[in-house]
Amino acid sequence: MTDAGGDLQLHLEALCQRYSTEMPVRVEHLRGLWGAVRANPANDADFKEFHRIAHNLAGSGATFGFSALSNSAITLDTFLQPILETHTAPTNDQCDHIESLLKQIEQAMSQRDDSPTLTHRPVKRDTGDDGGTLIFLVDDDVEQAQSMATEIAHFGYSVKTFGDLFALDDAVNEQRPAAIVMDMIFREGRLAGAETVAQLRRQAGGEIPVVFTSVRTDFEARLNAVQAGADAYFTKPIEIGELVDRLALLTGRTSPEPYRVLVIEDDPTMADYYRSVLEQAGMTSETLSNPMKVMERIVEFSPDLIMTDLYMPGCSGFDLARVIRQQNAYAALPIVFLSSERREDRQLSAMSLGGAAFLTKPVGTEQLVASVTSRAERSRTLRSLMMRDGFTGLLNHSHIKEQLAIEVDRARRTGTYLAFAMLDIDHFKSVNDTFGHPTGDRVLKSLAQMLTRRLRKTDVVGRYGGEEFAIILANTTGERAHAIIDDIRARFSRVRHRHEEDVFTVTFSGGVAEFPRFTTDESLSNTADAALYEAKNGGRDRMVLAGARKTPENGA
Ligand code: GH3
Ligand code: MG
Ligand code: MG
Ligand code: MG
Repeated sequence: MTDAGGDLQLHLEALCQRYSTEMPVRVEHLRGLWGAVRANPANDADFKEFHRIAHNLAGSGATFGFSALSNSAITLDTFLQPILETHTAPTNDQCDHIESLLKQIEQAMSQRDDSPTLTHRPVKRDTGDDGGTLIFLVDDDVEQAQSMATEIAHFGYSVKTFGDLFALDDAVNEQRPAAIVMDMIFREGRLAGAETVAQLRRQAGGEIPVVFTSVRTDFEARLNAVQAGADAYFTKPIEIGELVDRLALLTGRTSPEPYRVLVIEDDPTMADYYRSVLEQAGMTSETLSNPMKVMERIVEFSPDLIMTDLYMPGCSGFDLARVIRQQNAYAALPIVFLSSERREDRQLSAMSLGGAAFLTKPVGTEQLVASVTSRAERSRTLRSLMMRDGFTGLLNHSHIKEQLAIEVDRARRTGTYLAFAMLDIDHFKSVNDTFGHPTGDRVLKSLAQMLTRRLRKTDVVGRYGGEEFAIILANTTGERAHAIIDDIRARFSRVRHRHEEDVFTVTFSGGVAEFPRFTTDESLSNTADAALYEAKNGGRDRMVLAGARKTPENGA
């Protein structure tokens, strides 16, 4: 297999091929419409359609290697615009000129540019997510390494432990971990850990984040860690909540969720082209040819950005932007207009509708990727600030409720199961009272971390209130959700939290309700809440599934 860049090049060539095969049909269609306009010059609809097709050719031609044809189409497009705006039939002179431009287009059909080429860029893809993010843990104290590995693994990481530095060296060359957690002091010397890391980083081009752990609190040890390129330094005993928080930050940065771009374009060949270019740059993209369906697709696909053509049948890019902007939830969704429209006033009015950018066709692949990336990035940051709880990074109360309504709708439409769970930390007030609020905060964060890492990417986790969490598990039965979260419950209860010299454990209780047994978002959340109450009354540290058959084993 060739690299992804090579694949795309082939795909692009196939697209060009397809486009040029279709070209005679497109031009014949244009010619046919012109015939209709001549036969009945007063028919505005034919004239508009004639203009639309000419406009499309102007935009797509150059993208697929027909720049001479594209130029003639641009001239025709520009000539037609003022005539259309006056809503009068073209004069005889105008008709003659249009006729000659049409001939130019027909002649230019046989003139091809060299095939367009793409600059190869590396594909950024999430690496092997199946067994959780891979962490290497190095500590010559085998027992300590094992117990720490177990704790980190509770949070959904795959952890490999190493007792010495040679083994680590080999392993890193074979398989790259998302991060290395490493003890500073080894038999090889007081600072052997730091030296090995410095060397590993040089080999790996400095890309693997490294966290040092050490019993040493002195300046020299910290300095050595920094000089070796440490991304963090933890003194033992290690507060596991803090460590996993840092690991999430460090490993998250290397594999961000790909940006999601919805491409709205009535010409399927163009749509396919844009999608290919964006996907090649590591984004996820879907295309939509019917702009009327945009709201449904936005809800389904949840794009970070919309890229839209300006002239489409039935609904223009302007109308589309207006419709999207009417909904509060999408008021900030960036819209990038992509069109062969060259008139500045039109471009300006597109921008005034909240367009994030206006790109003129044909757009180079580099320019396309760069404009989309920078705007998608900003959009995601803004959206995350609006929707997420700043403390845990989970969805906030109103957005988890909104999401539940969306997911229930979807489950109803697709006839699938859905589970909704509510969790509440047990006796959390006494954690605060005994160890102080900051320590309570760390416990909260560690539960948030465990939930996000242990659950699937498709599960939605929210902070429902202070120490309450809500989870939506799409496509999951109540029974299955109960089992999944009960496993997390058991793991969480084994995590050792620290406050100064004290080590303590914390538990949570939860209730689960299932769709379609309960049919609305309202009844699901009330029922999950009631099940949670039951779990609390039953003695806490347990999960209750609403409406489950009562058996002695599940204690209900
Ligand atoms: P129960 O097992 O019945 O749930 O007991 P509880 O003590 O957890 O219940 P309660 O709801 O009475 O108390 C919740 C406590 O959670 C009170 C509040 O101080 C604490 N809490 C809420 N939000 C936060 C937070 O963000 N940080 C910290 N540290 N504590 C919080
Ligand atoms: Mg179009
Ligand atoms: Mg509570
Ligand atoms: Mg509580």
